[in-house]
Amino acid sequence: MPNLKVYRVLVTPTSYAKNDPALRSELEAEVSEVVYNTTGHPLSSSELLEMITGCNGYIAGLDDIDRNVIEAAHQLKVIARYGVGVDKVDLDAAKENGIVVTNTPGANSVSVAELTIGLIISLARMIPAASEATKTGEWPRMSGLTLAGKVIGLLGFGSIGKNVARRLQGFDCMVIAYDPLYDSATGEDLGVQFRLRDEIIREADFLSLHLPLASDTQGMVNAAFLRQMKPGAFLVNTSRGELIDEEGLLEALTSGQLRGAALDVFAQQPPGTDNPLLALPQVIATPHMGAHTDGATNAMGWAAMRDCLAVLRGEQPVYRVV
Ligand code: NAD
Repeated sequence: MPNLKVYRVLVTPTSYAKNDPALRSELEAEVSEVVYNTTGHPLSSSELLEMITGCNGYIAGLDDIDRNVIEAAHQLKVIARYGVGVDKVDLDAAKENGIVVTNTPGANSVSVAELTIGLIISLARMIPAASEATKTGEWPRMSGLTLAGKVIGLLGFGSIGKNVARRLQGFDCMVIAYDPLYDSATGEDLGVQFRLRDEIIREADFLSLHLPLASDTQGMVNAAFLRQMKPGAFLVNTSRGELIDEEGLLEALTSGQLRGAALDVFAQQPPGTDNPLLALPQVIATPHMGAHTDGATNAMGWAAMRDCLAVLRGEQPVYRVV
């Protein structure tokens, strides 16, 4: 059994071990040194370059893990992503440099799905605006929408999409989905109808994105896409900000083509205070917090730590990406 006491591990997710201190103590007991990110935010490539030197393992948040970082990390054996998305990791560079990349599929799906449901209902009933008005002494008559009888469209029917569909079962709405990996058995179990991608865009009253950021999905929600959407529909994005052309979305919202949008993610994070989307009352914005719950941080933490240590021991990780 290799001696892990010679290894140094970098841990950058700011929520790591927040809800379970054993994640820290167990990792610290296994290896020689654990270095934590104390900046309070995901690291830029240049910040990471300073911290990665001499590290053998890396439990990674939403840092910019580009080729420069990977090529400078001569002793690095594993990047264990704390989460599912690997869009910020240069996977080709990792592969070329013999660095294993792992992730934690499914660990945060329930939490992201719960937030998605919260955002859909918040849009339908204008909960943030109603709360703000009531607290400031107003007593407005606000009339919202029921979810019952509405069409909820899911683009992406992977782990999070399925969890959203499962949670919508009690709302008497119609759930339609598109995913190139057509999981008809789960769809049937959950009462979800599979449709063509364009039908989802055209028919949904609430359209929710649950697909990864990749070269073919970047900027996918552009002006043409938004024009295709049902007039007065709502858009929910808990996936990645770069899926949406934010200028196109601004135009669709200000023209009234879309009735509202709820965004947990932005093309630039945090979005500048001058981002015009933030000024619109029909936009609900949250700070990329889909996975920030006790359940998700524990599940992501244990899965990332387990796979990081497995690779350092020379064993196969459970969830290998490259
Ligand atoms: P997943 O891999 O289980 O599912 C993604 C699904 O999208 C797959 O079934 C895939 O076939 C499908 N897909 C790929 N390209 C598509 C396309 N062009 N159109 C329709 N479907 C397509 O991933 P997941 O766990 O469901 O996560 C989905 C995304 O959510 C992640 O990639 C990540 O970017 C994002 N995410 C956000 C948060 C957050 O905090 N807001 C947390 C976790 C994940």
